[in-house]
Amino acid sequence: MALAMSDTIIFAIPKGRILDEALPLMKAAGIEPAADFFDEASRALMFATTDPWVKIIRVRAFDVATFVAHGAAQIGIVGSDVIDEFDYSELYAPVDLGIGQCRISVAMPEGATQIPHIGHLRIATKYPALARRHFAGQGIQAECIKLNGAMELAPLLGLSGRIVDLVSTGKTLAENGLVESEILAQVSARLIVNRAAFKTTDGRIPAMVERFRALVGRHAAA
Ligand code: ADP
Ligand code: MG
Repeated sequence: MALAMSDTIIFAIPKGRILDEALPLMKAAGIEPAADFFDEASRALMFATTDPWVKIIRVRAFDVATFVAHGAAQIGIVGSDVIDEFDYSELYAPVDLGIGQCRISVAMPEGATQIPHIGHLRIATKYPALARRHFAGQGIQAECIKLNGAMELAPLLGLSGRIVDLVSTGKTLAENGLVESEILAQVSARLIVNRAAFKTTDGRIPAMVERFRALVGRHAAA
């Protein structure tokens, strides 16, 4: 049966680490990707699900927020780090899924001097808005250099004095001679919804949100 795209709910999920934890939750909520989703040879970017009205797109974490904010996808799963960095007014994040837990921190070379209270600092990060806001709160003007990965290399090679990055165990930092000096925020994955789609669809999106909310509530109580 051919479906008009306008009737289809597009559910955006990230390619990276959240995926393994998100799939069981989505399955429990009645949204299971078709077999080709798991076929590593497939070049497909959009996938059918067990719900004939729901299609999944698998994109980079930051792009999940972009698709949902613009209404190109109606619902998605993304880390709160991404939501905080973009600060899109069109994103509604009604459910903390409790997965993908980590923190966003400042790290510096072991033995480096503490951050000066006044002055200028160079930061390598994937989160320039969050980093700038954090340091501005301390009266420090942060010059942010945007990197998309391997932030730990920046202090080693003199690109920046500090990094702002995600930390879970701290193992990667330690292996690269860095220490965590400040925590900006705790991070977990959220269900995100496009505000306009939430209000204007026929109730399917609010119902979907409630299914996730009920699941997470049950997990938390277990
Ligand atoms: P990408 O390479 O597309 O940026 P990642 O897999 O690196 O994707 O990260 C995607 C999301 O996973 C992040 O935005 C964050 O919310 C979460 N995440 C990243 N690193 C960790 C980690 N060490 N522990 C738990 N969650 C993480
Ligand atoms: Mg990555």
